[in-house]
Amino acid sequence: MIKRSAKLKSIINYSLFLYLVLVSFTVTGRPPKSAFKFKTVVIDAGHGGKDPGAHGAWSFEKNVTLAIAEKVQRLMLKEMADVNVVMTRSTNRFVELNRRAEIANENKANLFISIHCNSTPEGTAEKVNKEKGVLILVYGYHRKEEQMEALRENSSIYIEKDYQKNYEGYNEKDPTALIILNAFMQKYRKQSILFGSILNKDFVNNDGRRSRGVKEQGVLVLAHSGMPAVLVETGYINNPGEEAYLNSKSGQDAIARSIVRAIKTYREEIDTH
Ligand SMILES: [Zn+2]
Repeated sequence: MIKRSAKLKSIINYSLFLYLVLVSFTVTGRPPKSAFKFKTVVIDAGHGGKDPGAHGAWSFEKNVTLAIAEKVQRLMLKEMADVNVVMTRSTNRFVELNRRAEIANENKANLFISIHCNSTPEGTAEKVNKEKGVLILVYGYHRKEEQMEALRENSSIYIEKDYQKNYEGYNEKDPTALIILNAFMQKYRKQSILFGSILNKDFVNNDGRRSRGVKEQGVLVLAHSGMPAVLVETGYINNPGEEAYLNSKSGQDAIARSIVRAIKTYREEIDTH
């Protein structure tokens, strides 16, 4: 009798063990869809302080990016109050590129959005820039000659005090070296492209903007963010028409609304896939 009950006990224990293994496999192997929580977005207003970014005839990129970032923050609070918005800067101050990525990583952000303005090499000189529209950059594979925006945005590091130490291994002539260094980042590539495509479509369909699409370049500010990340070139500040749009309330509102709508759509898409 004693022997039998011991046997029964061991069967119960074994069954319990199997049950626990099964439960833990179910929990860890296939997490339920609702387990993913989209909690935090980092909004990064490009440039700032001693780094004005690109400029038009009468305005600087750093002021446009901050104005749009603040509008995104306010709109998020109104329409997606359950999502925490972290700003890399809320004033006209200089923030190093790798510090911006650090802020996103420290806050365990689910999405990093860096806001910028585009510009063509002729600046605001005699030849007026006719180029216009949005461009969305994600960090990834690219051809060296198709790096114009990344090289311009990356040049912010030369204003930084310790850039040689902080960006060791970065070679402007060969940004592919950086891609190899950060190969692990490729795991966020697909989701970055997904968000970029949603946002790009919104700019075109809802704001009637021209678009150069979603492109992959070696953008430093995105290179060290451990989450899906995009850089939005919201328009050409050295095109007179676009400079007016980028500085206007209606233009900035439209851009901010597109960004917030895209965040909503992106959250829904990743929740159901
Ligand atoms: Zn910029």
